Amino acid sequence: LKWCSDGFSIEVLYSLPGVATQVVASIGGVLDILIDCGDGVLRDLLMGYYLDAELFNRIAAVLISHEHFDHVGGLYSLMDFMHMIGRVERLIVAVPRPSIVVKGFIRAVEEWRGGLSYGVDLIEVVDGDVLHIDPVEVRAFEVVHRSRTRMEPHGRRVPAVGYSLSYGGVRVVYSGDTGPCPSLEREVEGADLAILEATWGRGEVLGDSHLTEDEAIRLGEKARHYILIHRRSRLMEILEELEREGRRA
Ligand SMILES: [Zn+2]
Repeated sequence: LKWCSDGFSIEVLYSLPGVATQVVASIGGVLDILIDCGDGVLRDLLMGYYLDAELFNRIAAVLISHEHFDHVGGLYSLMDFMHMIGRVERLIVAVPRPSIVVKGFIRAVEEWRGGLSYGVDLIEVVDGDVLHIDPVEVRAFEVVHRSRTRMEPHGRRVPAVGYSLSYGGVRVVYSGDTGPCPSLEREVEGADLAILEATWGRGEVLGDSHLTEDEAIRLGEKARHYILIHRRSRLMEILEELEREGRRA
Protein backbone atom coordinates (compact mmCIF):
# COMPACT_ATOMS: atom_id res chain seq x y z
CA LEU A 1 0.00 0.00 0.00
CA LYS A 2 1.73 3.15 -1.20
CA TRP A 3 0.98 6.90 -1.41
CA CYS A 4 3.17 9.65 -2.81
CA SER A 5 3.00 13.44 -3.07
CA ASP A 6 5.78 15.93 -3.88
CA GLY A 7 8.73 13.89 -2.64
CA PHE A 8 6.84 12.66 0.42
CA SER A 9 5.98 8.99 0.17
CA ILE A 10 4.25 6.62 2.54
CA GLU A 11 4.36 2.86 2.42
CA VAL A 12 2.43 0.60 4.76
CA LEU A 13 4.84 -2.32 5.14
CA TYR A 14 2.43 -4.41 7.18
CA SER A 15 -0.59 -3.82 9.37
CA LEU A 16 -2.85 -6.29 11.11
CA PRO A 17 -4.24 -5.82 14.63
CA GLY A 18 -2.66 -8.07 17.24
CA VAL A 19 0.08 -9.04 14.75
CA ALA A 20 2.17 -6.04 13.69
CA THR A 21 2.03 -2.55 12.19
CA GLN A 22 4.87 -0.72 10.47
CA VAL A 23 4.76 2.22 8.08
CA VAL A 24 7.64 4.05 6.34
CA ALA A 25 7.53 7.75 5.54
CA SER A 26 10.22 8.63 3.00
CA ILE A 27 11.21 12.23 2.39
CA GLY A 28 12.95 13.23 -0.79
CA GLY A 29 14.31 9.69 -1.06
CA VAL A 30 17.08 10.57 1.40
CA LEU A 31 15.54 10.41 4.85
CA ASP A 32 13.10 7.85 6.18
CA ILE A 33 10.97 7.83 9.30
CA LEU A 34 9.60 4.55 10.56
CA ILE A 35 6.17 4.86 12.13
CA ASP A 36 5.56 2.00 14.55
CA CYS A 37 7.74 -1.02 14.64
CA GLY A 38 5.90 -4.31 15.11
CA ASP A 39 7.25 -7.81 14.78
CA GLY A 40 8.77 -8.63 11.41
CA VAL A 41 9.83 -5.05 10.70
CA LEU A 42 13.38 -6.14 9.94
CA ARG A 43 12.13 -8.78 7.46
CA ASP A 44 9.75 -6.26 5.84
CA LEU A 45 12.53 -3.67 5.42
CA LEU A 46 15.34 -5.98 4.42
CA MET A 47 13.44 -8.41 2.19
CA GLY A 48 10.90 -6.00 0.73
CA TYR A 49 11.63 -2.31 1.08
CA TYR A 50 15.40 -1.66 1.11
CA LEU A 51 16.92 -4.92 -0.17
CA ASP A 52 20.25 -3.47 0.99
CA ALA A 53 21.46 -3.20 4.58
CA GLU A 54 23.25 0.11 3.85
CA LEU A 55 19.93 1.81 3.27
CA PHE A 56 18.94 1.31 6.92
CA ASN A 57 21.14 4.32 7.62
CA ARG A 58 18.42 6.43 6.03
CA ILE A 59 16.15 5.82 9.01
CA ALA A 60 16.49 9.02 11.02
CA ALA A 61 13.74 8.29 13.50
CA VAL A 62 11.33 5.69 14.78
CA LEU A 63 8.01 7.08 16.00
CA ILE A 64 6.14 4.73 18.35
CA SER A 65 2.43 5.40 18.85
CA HIS A 66 2.11 3.25 21.99
CA GLU A 67 3.81 0.26 23.57
CA HIS A 68 1.47 -2.63 22.70
CA PHE A 69 3.55 -5.49 21.25
CA ASP A 70 2.09 -5.19 17.75
CA HIS A 71 3.45 -1.63 17.49
CA VAL A 72 6.80 -1.95 19.24
CA GLY A 73 7.86 -5.63 19.20
CA GLY A 74 10.35 -5.27 16.31
CA LEU A 75 12.34 -2.41 17.80
CA TYR A 76 14.86 -4.63 19.58
CA SER A 77 15.74 -6.47 16.34
CA LEU A 78 15.96 -3.24 14.38
CA MET A 79 18.28 -1.60 16.91
CA ASP A 80 20.59 -4.60 17.22
CA PHE A 81 20.66 -4.96 13.40
CA MET A 82 21.68 -1.31 13.10
CA HIS A 83 24.58 -2.00 15.48
CA MET A 84 25.57 -5.10 13.48
CA ILE A 85 25.85 -3.09 10.26
CA GLY A 86 27.93 -0.44 12.04
CA ARG A 87 25.52 2.44 11.95
CA VAL A 88 27.07 5.70 13.16
CA GLU A 89 24.25 8.22 12.65
CA ARG A 90 22.24 8.98 15.79
CA LEU A 91 18.76 7.47 15.94
CA ILE A 92 15.75 9.31 17.33
CA VAL A 93 13.17 7.11 19.04
CA ALA A 94 9.96 8.90 20.03
CA VAL A 95 7.44 7.23 22.34
CA PRO A 96 4.60 8.48 24.54
CA ARG A 97 5.57 9.36 28.11
CA PRO A 98 6.03 7.39 30.33
CA SER A 99 7.85 4.71 28.34
CA ILE A 100 8.47 1.27 29.83
CA VAL A 101 8.98 -1.08 26.86
CA VAL A 102 11.10 1.16 24.60
CA LYS A 103 13.30 2.18 27.53
CA GLY A 104 13.71 -1.49 28.41
CA PHE A 105 14.64 -2.46 24.83
CA ILE A 106 17.23 0.32 24.59
CA ARG A 107 18.76 -0.61 27.94
CA ALA A 108 18.79 -4.31 27.01
CA VAL A 109 20.46 -3.88 23.61
CA GLU A 110 23.03 -1.41 24.99
CA GLU A 111 23.94 -3.71 27.89
CA TRP A 112 23.95 -6.83 25.72
CA ARG A 113 26.31 -5.24 23.19
CA GLY A 114 28.33 -3.31 25.77
CA GLY A 115 27.49 -0.06 23.94
CA LEU A 116 26.14 0.59 20.45
CA SER A 117 27.96 1.86 17.37
CA TYR A 118 25.42 4.73 17.23
CA GLY A 119 23.78 7.04 19.74
CA VAL A 120 20.08 6.89 20.57
CA ASP A 121 17.99 9.96 21.38
CA LEU A 122 15.00 8.70 23.33
CA ILE A 123 12.27 11.33 23.31
CA GLU A 124 9.21 10.76 25.49
CA VAL A 125 6.45 12.83 23.92
CA VAL A 126 3.24 14.31 25.28
CA ASP A 127 0.35 16.02 23.54
CA GLY A 128 1.48 18.94 21.38
CA ASP A 129 5.21 18.16 21.39
CA VAL A 130 6.96 19.07 18.13
CA LEU A 131 10.08 17.30 16.87
CA HIS A 132 12.23 18.82 14.14
CA ILE A 133 13.67 15.97 12.14
CA ASP A 134 15.08 18.19 9.45
CA PRO A 135 13.42 18.75 6.94
CA VAL A 136 10.31 17.18 8.50
CA GLU A 137 8.27 18.58 11.37
CA VAL A 138 6.55 15.97 13.51
CA ARG A 139 3.82 16.84 16.00
CA ALA A 140 2.52 14.33 18.55
CA PHE A 141 -1.11 14.47 19.63
CA GLU A 142 -2.70 12.48 22.42
CA VAL A 143 -5.27 9.83 21.51
CA VAL A 144 -7.50 7.51 23.57
CA HIS A 145 -6.49 3.87 23.69
CA ARG A 146 -6.87 1.00 26.16
CA SER A 147 -5.37 -2.37 26.79
CA ARG A 148 -7.76 -5.13 25.78
CA THR A 149 -7.23 -8.77 26.62
CA ARG A 150 -9.51 -11.78 26.94
CA MET A 151 -9.20 -11.55 30.73
CA GLU A 152 -9.71 -7.80 30.75
CA PRO A 153 -11.75 -6.60 27.75
CA HIS A 154 -11.96 -3.04 29.08
CA GLY A 155 -8.48 -2.53 30.48
CA ARG A 156 -6.58 0.55 31.61
CA ARG A 157 -5.81 3.49 29.37
CA VAL A 158 -2.30 3.38 27.99
CA PRO A 159 -0.12 6.35 26.97
CA ALA A 160 -0.88 6.70 23.24
CA VAL A 161 -0.31 9.34 20.58
CA GLY A 162 -0.85 9.90 16.90
CA TYR A 163 1.67 11.81 14.76
CA SER A 164 1.26 14.59 12.23
CA LEU A 165 4.21 14.87 9.78
CA SER A 166 4.69 18.01 7.70
CA TYR A 167 7.13 18.52 4.84
CA GLY A 168 7.06 20.96 1.92
CA GLY A 169 3.44 21.94 2.53
CA VAL A 170 2.26 18.31 2.64
CA ARG A 171 0.84 16.95 5.88
CA VAL A 172 0.36 13.28 6.74
CA VAL A 173 -1.49 12.17 9.87
CA TYR A 174 -1.07 8.78 11.53
CA SER A 175 -3.74 7.86 14.08
CA GLY A 176 -1.95 5.12 16.00
CA ASP A 177 -4.45 2.97 17.89
CA THR A 178 -7.33 5.04 19.17
CA GLY A 179 -11.02 5.26 19.84
CA PRO A 180 -12.92 8.28 18.54
CA CYS A 181 -11.47 11.47 20.03
CA PRO A 182 -11.52 15.23 19.33
CA SER A 183 -7.74 15.48 18.82
CA LEU A 184 -7.84 13.03 15.91
CA GLU A 185 -10.85 14.83 14.39
CA ARG A 186 -8.86 18.07 14.55
CA GLU A 187 -5.67 16.61 13.09
CA VAL A 188 -7.24 14.87 10.07
CA GLU A 189 -9.13 18.01 9.07
CA GLY A 190 -7.43 19.25 5.90
CA ALA A 191 -4.55 16.74 6.03
CA ASP A 192 -3.21 15.53 2.68
CA LEU A 193 -3.20 11.94 3.88
CA ALA A 194 -4.73 10.29 6.94
CA ILE A 195 -3.48 6.82 7.88
CA LEU A 196 -6.24 5.57 10.13
CA GLU A 197 -6.70 2.52 12.26
CA ALA A 198 -9.99 0.73 11.49
CA THR A 199 -9.89 -2.21 13.86
CA TRP A 200 -13.56 -3.09 14.10
CA GLY A 201 -15.64 -4.13 11.13
CA ARG A 202 -18.95 -2.58 10.14
CA GLY A 203 -21.55 -2.97 12.85
CA GLU A 204 -19.06 -4.19 15.46
CA VAL A 205 -19.16 -2.03 18.57
CA LEU A 206 -16.62 -3.35 20.98
CA GLY A 207 -15.71 -0.49 23.27
CA ASP A 208 -13.90 2.78 22.86
CA SER A 209 -10.33 1.59 22.43
CA HIS A 210 -10.45 1.42 18.61
CA LEU A 211 -12.30 2.88 15.60
CA THR A 212 -14.81 0.99 13.49
CA GLU A 213 -14.32 1.00 9.71
CA ASP A 214 -17.33 3.34 9.43
CA GLU A 215 -15.85 5.77 11.94
CA ALA A 216 -12.47 5.65 10.21
CA ILE A 217 -14.03 6.30 6.78
CA ARG A 218 -16.04 9.24 8.12
CA LEU A 219 -12.83 10.69 9.60
CA GLY A 220 -10.81 9.91 6.48
CA GLU A 221 -13.19 11.92 4.36
CA LYS A 222 -12.08 15.06 6.22
CA ALA A 223 -8.61 14.59 4.67
CA ARG A 224 -7.71 14.73 0.97
CA HIS A 225 -6.82 11.03 0.95
CA TYR A 226 -6.96 8.29 3.50
CA ILE A 227 -5.67 4.76 4.05
CA LEU A 228 -7.30 2.33 6.49
CA ILE A 229 -4.90 0.06 8.38
CA HIS A 230 -5.02 -2.28 11.41
CA ARG A 231 -8.24 -3.90 10.10
CA ARG A 232 -9.58 -6.93 11.94
CA SER A 233 -11.78 -7.74 8.93
CA ARG A 234 -8.59 -8.17 6.83
CA LEU A 235 -7.11 -10.46 9.48
CA MET A 236 -10.30 -12.59 9.36
CA GLU A 237 -10.13 -12.77 5.54
CA ILE A 238 -6.54 -14.01 5.69
CA LEU A 239 -7.40 -16.64 8.28
CA GLU A 240 -10.36 -17.81 6.15
CA GLU A 241 -8.12 -18.06 3.06
CA LEU A 242 -5.67 -20.19 5.06
CA GLU A 243 -8.55 -22.36 6.24
CA ARG A 244 -9.74 -22.92 2.66
CA GLU A 245 -6.23 -23.90 1.66
CA GLY A 246 -6.28 -26.47 4.45
CA ARG A 247 -3.50 -24.75 6.33
CA ARG A 248 -5.55 -24.61 9.53
CA ALA A 249 -7.05 -27.50 11.47
ZN1 LIG B 1 -2.87 -1.05 20.74
